[in-house]
Amino acid sequence: MHPTIFETHRPAAKIVEDSLAGTKLACFWTEDVADRAARYPALDGDTRADDAVVGGGYAGLWTAIKLKTAHPERRVVLLEAVRVGWAASGRNGGFCEASITHGEPNAEARWPDETGTLRRLGHENLDAIERFIEQHGLDVDFERTGQLAVANEPHQQEWLGEGDDPEVEVLDREAVQRRITSPTFLGGEFAPRENANLHPAKLAAELARHAAEIGVEIHEHTPVQRLDGSAEEPIRLTTERGVVTAERVALCTNVFPSLLKRYRFHTVPVYDYVLMTEPLTDEQLASIGWEGREGLADMANQFHYSRLTKDNRILWGGYDAVYFAGGRIKREHEDRMESHRKLASHFFTTFPQLAGVKFTHRWAGVIDTSTRFCAFFGQAHGGRVQYVAGFTGLGVGATHFAADVLLDRFEGRVTERTELEMVKQVPLPFPPEPAASIGINLTRWSLDRADHNQGKRNVLLKTLDALGLGFDS
Ligand SMILES: Cc1cc2nc3c(=O)[nH]c(=O)nc-3n(C[C@H](O)[C@H](O)[C@H](O)COP(=O)(O)OP(=O)(O)OC[C@H]3O[C@@H](n4cnc5c(N)ncnc54)[C@H](O)[C@@H]3O)c2cc1C
Repeated sequence: MHPTIFETHRPAAKIVEDSLAGTKLACFWTEDVADRAARYPALDGDTRADDAVVGGGYAGLWTAIKLKTAHPERRVVLLEAVRVGWAASGRNGGFCEASITHGEPNAEARWPDETGTLRRLGHENLDAIERFIEQHGLDVDFERTGQLAVANEPHQQEWLGEGDDPEVEVLDREAVQRRITSPTFLGGEFAPRENANLHPAKLAAELARHAAEIGVEIHEHTPVQRLDGSAEEPIRLTTERGVVTAERVALCTNVFPSLLKRYRFHTVPVYDYVLMTEPLTDEQLASIGWEGREGLADMANQFHYSRLTKDNRILWGGYDAVYFAGGRIKREHEDRMESHRKLASHFFTTFPQLAGVKFTHRWAGVIDTSTRFCAFFGQAHGGRVQYVAGFTGLGVGATHFAADVLLDRFEGRVTERTELEMVKQVPLPFPPEPAASIGINLTRWSLDRADHNQGKRNVLLKTLDALGLGFDS
């Protein structure tokens, strides 16, 4: 086994401890918008709507906006259990990527005949998001920076240039260092159109503002407890303080238990950990370059992702993807010092010139991992209920595409989107516990071993690859 660069080049323990000494357990993004984000009243009493949306993350907000825009005369109600954007949508890395399939290799492996179409649709999707933000003046710190993937280990260098995207620029050591200075970067790939950075919590708040302005009725603090209905009659959504009866219902509840029991095992909650530094000084920023402000990720199985904020902080997340036995979503899982300490250590291995920089915030979020790593689409009650989940850590852009699919399906439209195998196929579910824990932990262990063994995948990973199954963050 070969130790990784993060094990052979550990920073001094004191640098890591000092950097975390005053760090607050809170999400930087949601805190940043806390005094600006509008509040929406809880539902109070029974009501009828034409369309109801459950979930106030990006998927639910985009869907509500599209439903209302298509039919301004229809009454659209959105029900959110807590606050708009409090979950994954408010606390992610803010990489708005073109890929709607959790990366092109994932599309190639599963739908080789559709890879080109999926790539084009992904770019059109990101362009449409950019246009929407511009047209409606959404203040979300959108920067179309492109994406830089870096090789930290010699075996990762060998993977550079393997893809067939003509727009990707392969960078040798000097070229990558000209973009971002780090002793660990041996080379990289720059994809100019693949990514935009944005402020995730601002995007959720701004989508909600726009939705409310065009007439969507938003209710926060309104968890839906059950869904009843049939193909012939309207759907009933029961909440503590009233029942919403709607002709059509979009379920955009991500990692939270599906209101359709048949999909309960199609996702598992995986915790992803994040750190945010204080704003860098001009000298600190000059020491790393990063003038292109690219979204940055490394090429390991257990990878880090990183980007600059508008005020030049560095967000640094990923690597550990933790599934807690039992698959419950609990606040206490967010406070995992072991993961945050590891992230801090890897940060200073990557940027030793930033020794002394402090992390102001540390947090975690839950990812809706599906066995095929990208969103799947379900339906019930003769299509009156549409469901999407399973974005597996890459949903900032893909939720917009998903909302288009939900709309097509509600309207009974056959489109290029609805005819995709990716849209038509529903993936296999995870097994119930304890098999889920055993399988997921074995897969994680195998991925870690592959990172320590020049990327070589063991029999378990090869078998999962062949079956089109897996586990990822
Ligand atoms: C730490 C972290 C980093 C990430 N980084 C990136 C990234 O850089 N780029 C990227 O593309 N993706 C990233 N992701 C993934 C991305 O954030 C998600 O895929 C995306 O936000 C999913 O949006 P959503 O609307 O489906 O889910 P959510 O934002 O989770 O929204 C679902 C909402 O449904 C509500 N809800 C659930 N059940 C009910 C119910 N019964 N009644 C009422 N309301 C209900 C919840 O309260 C929640 O607000 C990251 C995720 C995490 C956690």
